[in-house]
Amino acid sequence: MTSSLALIVAAGTGTRFGGTVPKQYLPLGGVPVLRRTITAFAQHPRVSAVRVVIHPDHHDLYAAAVGDMNLLPPVVGAASRQASTLNGLAACEADGFDIVLIHDAVRPLVDGETISRVLDGVDAHTGVVPGLAVTDTLRRSHDGLSAGTVDRSGLWRVQTPQGFAYHAILKAHRSAPHDQFTDDAAIFEAAGYPVRLVKGHVDNTKVTIPDDMEAAEIRLMGQYEFRTGMGFDVHEFGPGSSIMICGVEVPHDRTAVGHSDADVGLHALTDALLGSIGAGDIGTYFPPSDPRWKGADSATFLRHAASLVADKGGRIVNVDLTLMCERPKIGPHREAMIARIADILQLSPDRVAVKATTTEKLGFLGRSEGIAGQAVATIRMPADE
Ligand code: MG
Repeated sequence: MTSSLALIVAAGTGTRFGGTVPKQYLPLGGVPVLRRTITAFAQHPRVSAVRVVIHPDHHDLYAAAVGDMNLLPPVVGAASRQASTLNGLAACEADGFDIVLIHDAVRPLVDGETISRVLDGVDAHTGVVPGLAVTDTLRRSHDGLSAGTVDRSGLWRVQTPQGFAYHAILKAHRSAPHDQFTDDAAIFEAAGYPVRLVKGHVDNTKVTIPDDMEAAEIRLMGQYEFRTGMGFDVHEFGPGSSIMICGVEVPHDRTAVGHSDADVGLHALTDALLGSIGAGDIGTYFPPSDPRWKGADSATFLRHAASLVADKGGRIVNVDLTLMCERPKIGPHREAMIARIADILQLSPDRVAVKATTTEKLGFLGRSEGIAGQAVATIRMPADE
């Protein structure tokens, strides 16, 4: 099988962007730009390995951005993009890759189909560049005045990843004059090789100025959908001296009866999360007939539901819980409950709401025969294709 390396060039200092953090390390939809870029390649079934060329001052930023991703060790870049790319290529000389895809770190929204089209077109002699035909009218400017229309026929604006036979592009880079080229395809052409143009994607833009980041955020939103799940739970009161609510032990002259710790708050939240991904209910995973869950800490149930959401690529946007009882009073414990849920779900406390109401002495709750909880969860998920 052909082995393909994705070489991501991230050695820029991003001075055009302003600010102190280089643009490839800034968050885009909560995830560093570079991590999104790497993920696009790491998830592609035909990419064998990913290696990043970084600025010598960015080791800490890089480590924080990639975390425990399974990558080849980073290569330190040089003063220009061309020299940085050559460093990256040279570092992989002994690794036996057939094809290399060279990609700008600041194109985080590259799609799998573009990567596939580039890979499809590469052979021993032919380089491949994704791009889009220019559709706007092009005009030359001179001292702020139009100096005529430029014929746009046959003109493309090119993107990355640019794909090449590994040894051919390394050789071309080594023989290229320093810092004369704006991309790798130009270096390949200068060495006498043909370069094929294939269709890129309109979303595969370069994040160069703050406006680009905003546009990328909007494009990213189009790749997500929002889901809502609902949960409801009731437990009867019985003899006891405290009651578990939202992972907090609240002193009371009764307790809630149940197989586990009978925590209505965490049970309703668990069902809301499961509901958002159509994954059954709490009894599906933790049946009351199973002795393992006798007296269990319901945080286990909620954590499991959150892990199922995460497995599907989902992120919890917020959870909202209403507790219903005459007593005990929830107010004095509300902040502790919010903190406990936020800790279990690894959310900031402003994404967790705990509210309480009585039922005006009506019904079984009004007669203090038990306690109920109702929860809603909102989840952000990658949209189905
Ligand atoms: Mg329950």
